[in-house]
Amino acid sequence: MAGFRSLARQVRDSRCDLALRRYSLRKCLERFAPYGHRATWDHLCSRAGFDPEDRSPDPARLVAALEELEEARSVWLAYEAEFARRRKKEKHDGLRRPGSVDDWHRLTWGGFGVAWCDDPRVHPRAPLAEVLRRLISALEREPGDHCPVCGGERLTWRYDLAHEPSSGPVCVDCGIVVPRPVLTPQALAAARRERRMLVSA
Ligand SMILES: [Zn+2]
Repeated sequence: MAGFRSLARQVRDSRCDLALRRYSLRKCLERFAPYGHRATWDHLCSRAGFDPEDRSPDPARLVAALEELEEARSVWLAYEAEFARRRKKEKHDGLRRPGSVDDWHRLTWGGFGVAWCDDPRVHPRAPLAEVLRRLISALEREPGDHCPVCGGERLTWRYDLAHEPSSGPVCVDCGIVVPRPVLTPQALAAARRERRMLVSA
């Protein structure tokens, strides 16, 4: 199975067939896709200015989409390396973290679905790297009450998500599943109530 870097080389390779280069970019998303495969593809295409269904996009736009993905990936991998280092030290010092942060990391290691968007057309508009920076700073501070990416206040509980965990608080504004560790117990409870209100409405 080709790794992210060799797939990225294929995307840039002007000797390759354009359809293959596009295919290689899609394969990159199997390695790293913060919103999930389909939503991340939709995001990259709209930011780089080509249609998600376009089989032979402008090569410069294809490379621009790759660059956005690569920048986001380097932001995320640096965070994971730091997290692993800190975790190892804490273990060594006999400290224990609250379980939920570790549980969340186990499900998202490598960066797939860290900001899962269940509807592939609803995702944050900011550059992917910027979205991840906002998410990371939220993971590193005390839990809050808002969406860490767009600051939205309306969170609603959703079930049957096509990703683990299969239920969770979703930001009504930008569409991400908000990682539970970044929310206060009160915000989580409010999101669950919001769900009930929608159901009974
Ligand atoms: Zn949001």
